[in-house]
Amino acid sequence: MKEQLQALEQEALSKVEEASTIKELQVVRVAYLGKKGPITEVLRGMGKLSPEERPIIGELANTVRANIANAMEEKKDAMERAELEKQLAEEQIDVTLPGRPVAVGGPHLLTSIVEEIEDLFIGLGFEVREGPEVETDYYNFEALNLPKGHPARDMQDSFYITEDLLMRTHTSPVQARTMNAIQGARPVKMICPGKVYRRDTDDATHSHQFTQIEGLYVDKNVRMSDLKGVLDRFAKHMFGEDREIRLRPSFFPFTEPSVEMDISCKVCNGEGCSVCKKTGWIEILGAGMVHPRVLEMAGYDPNEYSGFAFGMGPERIAMLKYGVDDIRHFYTNDVRFLKQYHQA
Ligand SMILES: [Zn+2]
Repeated sequence: MKEQLQALEQEALSKVEEASTIKELQVVRVAYLGKKGPITEVLRGMGKLSPEERPIIGELANTVRANIANAMEEKKDAMERAELEKQLAEEQIDVTLPGRPVAVGGPHLLTSIVEEIEDLFIGLGFEVREGPEVETDYYNFEALNLPKGHPARDMQDSFYITEDLLMRTHTSPVQARTMNAIQGARPVKMICPGKVYRRDTDDATHSHQFTQIEGLYVDKNVRMSDLKGVLDRFAKHMFGEDREIRLRPSFFPFTEPSVEMDISCKVCNGEGCSVCKKTGWIEILGAGMVHPRVLEMAGYDPNEYSGFAFGMGPERIAMLKYGVDDIRHFYTNDVRFLKQYHQA
């Protein structure tokens, strides 16, 4: 019986040695250490042994079981280590491979245009001013020579919050506020960019919310020719050095005289095409000399001071510059539209 156990031990140990996978090792475990295995079988015959022999054989059987189990454990550990090492070797990161591209954002087209215009005017000595979007009737209309009941108010029908508070219809109130704060103590040279609101029905060229940039220059001896020079520089900066401008008489309650500025059509170079409606010119902005009453209300003596003002829509500038055909593209945040204008 002793020899039998020792032979089984050798047999099992060599099977363990031969096993090349953990699964095979599992089969060996069941075969030799299971309840139906040969060692259990041998121990069943212990009843035939003498009382002196039983403990010796019992101990030997336990040793044999322990030896086989230990050998299996060691083999299993070795296999797992080898497997891990193999995996580590195979899964080494190749740092020379190109990485996954990361989507890079950029400023919104409208933001870029506003910043481009701001940069130009800062270069011409203007400061950038901002003001509230919820405005009083006084600053939005009255201080700009638009008293209650003035027919020109109808053109700027807006969203009223109370009788006296409304969403501003233009950025002009920022000019009125700035002049009012200074009270004629010094000249003013500023632009005010920002969002404005009108009760318009949205379509390809109208939106109930849009952007404006207005400019104001008040000083002694500011003349119409200064206005023309600034607007000419603006037109050439935004649309190309070969653009011409022309000023047409117009009406705004807060300027006198008032003008509309056109630039020569860059598509046909003034010949006349569908973009300029056969006129050779494209309307860009409104401007004029500040109305003496507006100066007076803001604390400037109109006999001593004069000034010019202008107002434009950056959406319109961007649409003309880049051929955008619908103003709503600016607000719907379609990435396919926006990423065409990301500068590297
Ligand atoms: Zn044209």
